[in-house]
Amino acid sequence: MIKKILPLVLISLSLHATAAVVIQEELYVVGLKPEVVRDLVDSRDVEIDHVTSEGFEIYGAKGLSQILDSRNIVTLDMKAVKNKMLAEYPTYIEFTARMQAIAAKRPDLIKLFSIGKTVKGRDMWMVKISDNVDKDEVEPEFKFISSMHGDEITGRELTTSLIEEMINNYGKNSELTDLMNNTEIYIMPSMNPDGSELKQRANAKGIDLNRSFPEFVDNDANKPEGRPIEVQNVMKFQGTRQFALSANFHGGTIVANYPWDSRYDRHPLNDLAMDISHAYADLNPEMRSSSEFSGGITNGADWYIVKGGMQDWSYIWYNDLQITLEVSHSKYPSYSQIPGFYVSNRDSMVAYMKRVHQGAGFRLDRSNVEGTVIVKQLTPSAREMGSFGFNNSEFYKVLPEGTYELTVNEKNGKSQKISVSVENEVIRGNGNYISLK
Ligand SMILES: [Zn+2]
Repeated sequence: MIKKILPLVLISLSLHATAAVVIQEELYVVGLKPEVVRDLVDSRDVEIDHVTSEGFEIYGAKGLSQILDSRNIVTLDMKAVKNKMLAEYPTYIEFTARMQAIAAKRPDLIKLFSIGKTVKGRDMWMVKISDNVDKDEVEPEFKFISSMHGDEITGRELTTSLIEEMINNYGKNSELTDLMNNTEIYIMPSMNPDGSELKQRANAKGIDLNRSFPEFVDNDANKPEGRPIEVQNVMKFQGTRQFALSANFHGGTIVANYPWDSRYDRHPLNDLAMDISHAYADLNPEMRSSSEFSGGITNGADWYIVKGGMQDWSYIWYNDLQITLEVSHSKYPSYSQIPGFYVSNRDSMVAYMKRVHQGAGFRLDRSNVEGTVIVKQLTPSAREMGSFGFNNSEFYKVLPEGTYELTVNEKNGKSQKISVSVENEVIRGNGNYISLK
């Protein structure tokens, strides 16, 4: 199948992971497999994405189309169609106004803030949604981020509509109300507003944000310095929170992609990663009945290797289990189709958010405590899940269903144990996010 052909091309790409590809041409190669590229261009200079049986996308510097043309490779320039389609979508100014209007409705439930500025000085808007929104309550923290590829715009509209629905239906829809009362939900619909305005994948400097995060295969350090400013802003923000479950939205096909993206061995919580991907895919008719991906889900690396992606980074450094959602075959479907996409993704988004309650953790009543937590599963099977660091006096981790014992070892020598039962389909209050002395 498609999956098997990729390693050769991408192994050579990975040797040069530090030199970012500057994207000036965005092309689509029709009807061929990515391995053709290996013989035609220096694979250090290109990026490949969204490989399907119909073809694949290829990104690179000026001259790429000429090189491919001269080798009789048929490519489509994505720019013309894209410019036309994306012109139908709200501008950054209009998107900002929409976010501000929602936030103004219920300041008790939603807080709009910027996590920083882009290359072009645009705000990276984030909302926090929760009851008592101004308080940092002992509740699981969840996050959606969309459109770090600026032209993959469907997710921006879906997540913005979700924010609106939550705010408009608080107190009316019991499922949403329950979720908002017991969760701290963060949503950033547009991580790359410069790219969206420029109608392109990369940021304003031509850099792909989803190849720019620290990665663990080459022991990249978890330091923001030297990375695109948008990535720096996300990294710094992540460090201030305790996210335990998240997803990031893309477009170009329809599938839920789970970690790892950057290496072939299985994630330590592989079954759980597949399970939460199914939580999304099962409720999206087109995703679950995919002919390209069984059940509408795929392991990231089995599909194609991505190094420097946000998904692997968030788990490795923060225990924040993240999947990548590709939500539309076209990155920029006709804007009139967005309500239909919302209908087919709405239940999936809600079901996925709820899964953050399938976890366990604690907050200590003293500030700035650091230490480690040893997580031991007791049932259905006894196993050590590992030892995890914590700081800021807090820890919370999404886990497979079962009963657990958490041993909290503070750096100062204090040690205590908590026992919890972790279940799916249960929204808890402080249930498994336990306040400890
Ligand atoms: Zn993407």
